Amino acid sequence: MWGLNAHAGRRIGGLRAGIWLDDQVYRGAIGFAGEVGHTTFLPDGPLCNCGNRGCWETFASQKALIERLRAGVAAGEKTSLPVSGGRLADVTMPLIVEAARAGDPLVLSALEEVGGYLGLVIANLINTFNPNMVVSGGALSLADTFLLPPIRRTVAERAISWAREAANIVVAAHRFDSCVMGGVALVLHDMLSHPRLDVPVGRRSSDGKFSRKVVMPVTDPKREILTSGQQI
Ligand SMILES: [Zn+2]
Repeated sequence: MWGLNAHAGRRIGGLRAGIWLDDQVYRGAIGFAGEVGHTTFLPDGPLCNCGNRGCWETFASQKALIERLRAGVAAGEKTSLPVSGGRLADVTMPLIVEAARAGDPLVLSALEEVGGYLGLVIANLINTFNPNMVVSGGALSLADTFLLPPIRRTVAERAISWAREAANIVVAAHRFDSCVMGGVALVLHDMLSHPRLDVPVGRRSSDGKFSRKVVMPVTDPKREILTSGQQI
């Protein structure tokens, strides 16, 4: 199961993939696994925040959606979004979704384009990992009604058929909050998977308390090196 996430609000989000593999998050060698947003799509493409050009994030993210809307406004395309001095004003995802529901042609075109690029990203990931589930979360999931059709259409065209048929593409239950809820779930999962026992040791004082405690692993001997003998 994977999650594609993009932040919302004034901080416009990029593109990440969390890889859930064998009942745990796959982190890679130093914890950077899943930075799919900074893999290259077009070598001479737009400049990315990371310093490279043509990263996937510049085509398939909330940031890319906003850039597409800005370019449309600058080119004189009609829109109901707020425009100031011929430039797109600050907009939020709820405002963009509202405009799309009202049939705004620029917004609908931009969502279709970004959805197609997201479909390409997901098709590549499906071919690489053969997942049973792809979960889309974050700010862009607020526009799932408009993004899922081009995503599913592109995946159907581009992913290898048997891998595609195994992958269920869904929207995260927590949508906008999926990133922070994923972090909470990760901490709870780790705590429940590796419960620890506080063991009192040392001399007992006059009030009946032990002078110190050590934290001992309960279930996972592999974690002993981290916890055994650790004074608290
Ligand atoms: Zn980049």
